[in-house]
Amino acid sequence: MAVKLEYVWLDGYKPTQSLRSKTKIEKDFNGTLSDLPTWSFDGSSTEQAPGGSSDCLLKPVFVVPDPQRKNAWLVMCEVMNVDGTPHVSNGRATIEDDDNDFWFGFEQEYFLWDNNINRPLGFPAGGFPGPQGPYYCSVGAANAYGREIIEEHLDACLEAGLNVEGINAEVATGQWEFQIFSKGAKQAGDQIWIARYLLERIGEKHGVSINWHCKPLGALDWNGSGMHANFSNSTLRNGGSKAIFDKVCEAFRPVVKEHIEVYGADNHLRLTGKHETASILDFSYGVSDRGASIRIPAMVPQKGWKGYLEDRRPNSAADPYKVAARIIKTVKSVKV
Ligand code: ADP
Ligand code: MN
Ligand code: MN
Ligand code: MN
Repeated sequence: MAVKLEYVWLDGYKPTQSLRSKTKIEKDFNGTLSDLPTWSFDGSSTEQAPGGSSDCLLKPVFVVPDPQRKNAWLVMCEVMNVDGTPHVSNGRATIEDDDNDFWFGFEQEYFLWDNNINRPLGFPAGGFPGPQGPYYCSVGAANAYGREIIEEHLDACLEAGLNVEGINAEVATGQWEFQIFSKGAKQAGDQIWIARYLLERIGEKHGVSINWHCKPLGALDWNGSGMHANFSNSTLRNGGSKAIFDKVCEAFRPVVKEHIEVYGADNHLRLTGKHETASILDFSYGVSDRGASIRIPAMVPQKGWKGYLEDRRPNSAADPYKVAARIIKTVKSVKV
């Protein structure tokens, strides 16, 4: 039986890489990753190669059933050079330490975007809707826009076997969030990228695009989009004392620059100290504090200092491979 394999990869655009994909038809495929062949594409059309030597390779690294097509699979790929070494745009291959003791829950925020008016879904042409307040977790046509899209996305993610843990309407008009939980930096990245891919494709059907920019409405009084990174390892999960949490949080202080570097483009526009963010220049942490760089969830002290941390700084356009890898590096530098 002919099967459709959608090979998905990240292009070489800077500062934000975008999803690309193309379809390969194969005779049979039963879902075994190692059965998938390496493929190639024209890197000169994706800022990944010069025209005179344009071939790049696609190496399958993660595969799920494609819920939207008959007899089909979605294949996340790493981009390789023809000599088999990782391409410079391949963030996944730079993950040095993919430790499955690290668990990640990413909260991916984004805007559904009305291309006709170049504004979020729900914005009137040429003006503004009422101010923020009623939109977060709202119900009803006056405040919630695009629910048919996000419901379709949720079903698609679940059918593909992604570990979605929840969805909600966000603070700005037309802004939504999904949360995905997974273990290890590579798996966390694979799941988020495939979920983003499904959302983009569902948006096409509805004539709505997905705006991943962290501050698409600029300096106006509208929230930006984050991708909060909730993380834990055995040290944090078993915890037992405030001192352990303080020590892990303090390890982030001297490496603010290194973290911000991989926390997404234009983050200075979002991390202003307003709209539930901390200033990009500061580092802070605190229990239940949504104005801090890192929030210690309220249940952590309640449960005897056991649980996880939330780094609130990564933005909606960040590459989850790089975010997770950097967090693992910093937390592993702590000796407890
Ligand atoms: P909020 O909006 O209040 O910041 P959410 O409920 O949207 O929180 O997201 C919380 C995230 O924390 C979820 O994605 C969940 O998977 C994640 N999470 C919960 N426990 C852990 C843990 N022990 N390690 C890592 N992530 C966790
Ligand atoms: Mn959330
Ligand atoms: Mn949120
Ligand atoms: Mn959060």
